[in-house]
Amino acid sequence: MRSQLQTRVALGMIVTLSVLLLMLWVLQRNTPADRETAVMRTSAADVQEDPAVHTCNLCGATARFTEFNNRPEATCPNCKSRERHRLLMHYMRNETRLFHDKLDMLHFSPIGPEKDILRNAPNLHYVTADYSQGEDLRLDLTSVEQPDASWDVIVAYHVLEHIVEDQKAIHEMYRILRPGGQAILQVPLEPGRKTIYEDTAIVSPKERARHFGGHADHVRLYSAGGFKQRLEAAGFVVEAVDYVARLDPSVVERHAMRSKAKKPDIEDIWIARKPAR
Ligand SMILES: [Zn+2]
Repeated sequence: MRSQLQTRVALGMIVTLSVLLLMLWVLQRNTPADRETAVMRTSAADVQEDPAVHTCNLCGATARFTEFNNRPEATCPNCKSRERHRLLMHYMRNETRLFHDKLDMLHFSPIGPEKDILRNAPNLHYVTADYSQGEDLRLDLTSVEQPDASWDVIVAYHVLEHIVEDQKAIHEMYRILRPGGQAILQVPLEPGRKTIYEDTAIVSPKERARHFGGHADHVRLYSAGGFKQRLEAAGFVVEAVDYVARLDPSVVERHAMRSKAKKPDIEDIWIARKPAR
């Protein structure tokens, strides 16, 4: 009689414990924040073991980065930054005075995490701009409503390939920069292209995509030489920085800062300096 009771109690305890464990498991799985924070939880050990795990230098997430446009491990799943954004941030932090000097900085078409970081730099007067609404200023780069010599730094990444009158835009950047100021630029550049390909008769998104590398909103294919020439024609002193080549490969890999496309674009960071008077 007594041992029967003991068995019952023991069984009851096992069942209760099992139910509790099951409830805990279900609760943990269904935490609303779980899906969002899952990418952040990867441990340091995983980073070493899994080559597809990277640390984003924009948002801090350590995660498996995802494919974008046939480029494996291109996108941070947390903040959506891509290789070029992370390379640019690494450059700005390590190779410029952007986080030290008192500077007026105008950033065209930034992404969210870039803005979060640069807005928090106490030394910067940081202003964002775009052709459409949603940024601090709504500016047409071919006719910028800003005074001459009013900015120290302009960033325009993957902007000029969208602008039909890009030479006008380059002149405008030159005009609004102070002497000694600089524009930090990038456009898509396929290696080996000798001349700029553009045709103002190509206007439909479908045709533009067919002619300009699959992008319905691009208006030309730049060559590196042609791009440099257009910048110099406006008065800029131009330097194409192959920054990936200067960095320790393990650092490049840690933040996934280079394209893993089969045929990657040239990923140089273009520094266009307005000579000091
Ligand atoms: Zn990120």
